[in-house]
Amino acid sequence: MSRFLDPRLRNLEPYTPGEQPKLDRLIKLNTNENPYPPSPLVLQRVAEAAEELRLYPDPMNGALADAMAKTFGVGAENVFLANGSDEVLAFLFQALCPNGAAFADVTYGFYAVYAARYGVQARIVPLRADYTLAPEDYHGLNETCFIANPNAPTGLAVCRDALEGILQANPDSLLVVDEAYVDFGGESCVPLTKRYGNLVVTGTFSKSRNLAGARLGYAIASKALIEDLELVKFSYNPYNVNRLTAASGVAALEDTAYFEACRQKVVEAREYAASALRELDFSVLPSRTNFLFAAPPGMSGKAYFAALRARGILVRHFDTPRCTDHVRISIGTMEQMRELVQVSKELISGN
Ligand SMILES: *Cc1c(COP(=O)(O)O)cnc(C)c1O
Repeated sequence: MSRFLDPRLRNLEPYTPGEQPKLDRLIKLNTNENPYPPSPLVLQRVAEAAEELRLYPDPMNGALADAMAKTFGVGAENVFLANGSDEVLAFLFQALCPNGAAFADVTYGFYAVYAARYGVQARIVPLRADYTLAPEDYHGLNETCFIANPNAPTGLAVCRDALEGILQANPDSLLVVDEAYVDFGGESCVPLTKRYGNLVVTGTFSKSRNLAGARLGYAIASKALIEDLELVKFSYNPYNVNRLTAASGVAALEDTAYFEACRQKVVEAREYAASALRELDFSVLPSRTNFLFAAPPGMSGKAYFAALRARGILVRHFDTPRCTDHVRISIGTMEQMRELVQVSKELISGN
């Protein structure tokens, strides 16, 4: 740390991303990426867009906003695009938490980091003992509430009606529903954005649309809220979505058959792995995402994580009191999940 760093940032604890190791042959199940490459249409459109790289991108991302509007059944004026949904979340913490922020104790780690980064007071709302979210705990809160649905790292989802209940109970506070994993089995709140001016839905192309490396995320909300996000963006970096990424996004939305096929394969591999691990006496929460939150029998989460790593399988372990017994296993191909199950079987039987 240099002596020039702003004193307000000196105690900031940054988010720790999952490892991106250089090792080949490693089975990488630690950052919830899609195991399949982007659609061939994406590759073709990126090559075409590359010819235009001399030019700045369209700061309003018109073509992509139109494609989003068509896919999600909203107006283009209801769509905000950003450099990953992390950037959307950063803007929300920066500009739309006038009364602080409220979020679960076990949820996406970046919420706490952004709250600290932007000096937003955080209210932590503990999940129940079984990791489910109690919607009524949010009723009456004045803070901007952030709910990942389905949640990470638990994989559990709440129904749309429960979230609508929060919108109705808190008409003067904002609710942000982070739908990073919704395509793997959640119930989207996007339709509610037409009726509730206090709702922002965020999402990403990183998981279900095979584009983690492109960095593309979005928010869907009322026109007024989108204008607020644009205000922040245009006061920071109008070109936050580059040409290659914008072209990737349009193509990924167009190739619906590819999207469906990948999504189905991930869900099948998830259901296989969940039941195979349960047969080995793992405790596995019912997942609506592309990962499993699982606790091995007779072994700590940390020891299981380390043993898997030594066998070339990388998963994620969060060393916090409520997560330490578990690991988070991203869903890979069926072949990778079979390998995970086989290795897990050997580890817990001590071979
Ligand atoms: C992965 C993830 C994000 C961030 O997605 P990017 O678009 O890659 O920045 C946001 N929220 C949750 C809950 C996530 O798991």
